[in-house]
Amino acid sequence: MTTITAKISKWNPEPEIIMQAAEIIRSGGLVAFPTETVYGLGADALNANAVTKIYAAKGRPSDNPLILHVSNHEQVHSLVYMNDIAEKLIHEFWPAPLTLVLPARDVIPLKTRGGLDTAAIRMPDNPIALALIEASRTPIAAPSANISGRPSPTDFESVYHDMNGRIDMILDGGSTDIGIESTVIDVTNPERILLLRPGGISIESIEAVIDMRLECPDDNSKKRSPGTRYRHYAPSIPVKVWKHNQKFPECEANSTGYMGLHEPECNCAEKIIFDDVKNYTRGLFAGFRKFEREEFSCIVVEWPDDISGTGAGLQDRITRASCE
Ligand code: AMP
Ligand code: MG
Repeated sequence: MTTITAKISKWNPEPEIIMQAAEIIRSGGLVAFPTETVYGLGADALNANAVTKIYAAKGRPSDNPLILHVSNHEQVHSLVYMNDIAEKLIHEFWPAPLTLVLPARDVIPLKTRGGLDTAAIRMPDNPIALALIEASRTPIAAPSANISGRPSPTDFESVYHDMNGRIDMILDGGSTDIGIESTVIDVTNPERILLLRPGGISIESIEAVIDMRLECPDDNSKKRSPGTRYRHYAPSIPVKVWKHNQKFPECEANSTGYMGLHEPECNCAEKIIFDDVKNYTRGLFAGFRKFEREEFSCIVVEWPDDISGTGAGLQDRITRASCE
């Protein structure tokens, strides 16, 4: 398959490029596009055949449900059963890296929701993504645009590396702002809101709006969010974690790449020091891919102690990439 690529302006997405991409979505094809979190691999969420192609292109297990991306508030009511807490969160945050899991209406194919009776839904905060959904006149199912298990792509080059020849089109809208995926919460039961995946929006900002603590899912609810079971986000070389003020992990320094907030005493071949958690989050996956390209034998990442902001999401991605 030949993959069309097109550069597109983030703030003024060219209408002819959006129309071309939307036409592909409408006819059941696959288009990768930037969101504010990472690049997504999109298909018409209401077309089971199109959605099947997403799983094939990514090599994604078919019981791992997809997030439906919408471009306006009204669309939500036709897809899921709403409640007051969900309304409040949507009103307060969207467009945002906040995904809500709610009871699904039958219009969403089982394929899209991995066979579950719930569906995950969000409105992305990126003009290209919003214009594409709007022009496609359908919600777009979009997991990250990487081969399953690999670090999510935060720039065009990473999408191209994983997806060229496997999908119809890639929109090049530059680097993504946040760098990790959305925060996913289950609001099916408005009395107990579950944090299924920390991510781009902070836990404390959600709790402030709902005036309730988010709860951790028990084993039963974890089963309901199959994505949380799989190893994820990992480059092809080992990732080791360094906790500040502890012994630096064993590695061959001259072929090790390091990323973190503090400069360690090691002779690592390359060190990327971020000045805060936000920039660390933004650069994590790109750093994994860079060290991989440079054929290092090991990656060491610093454990971020602070779980405020995107800190909890960053900890989660580091844990899963290192399998610690
Ligand atoms: P990804 O598309 O790879 O960013 O992953 C989407 C995340 O949302 C995964 O962790 C899924 O398990 C989760 N998710 C999607 N739909 C549902 C759902 N209906 N119920 C629970 N979790 C979901
Ligand atoms: Mg993913």
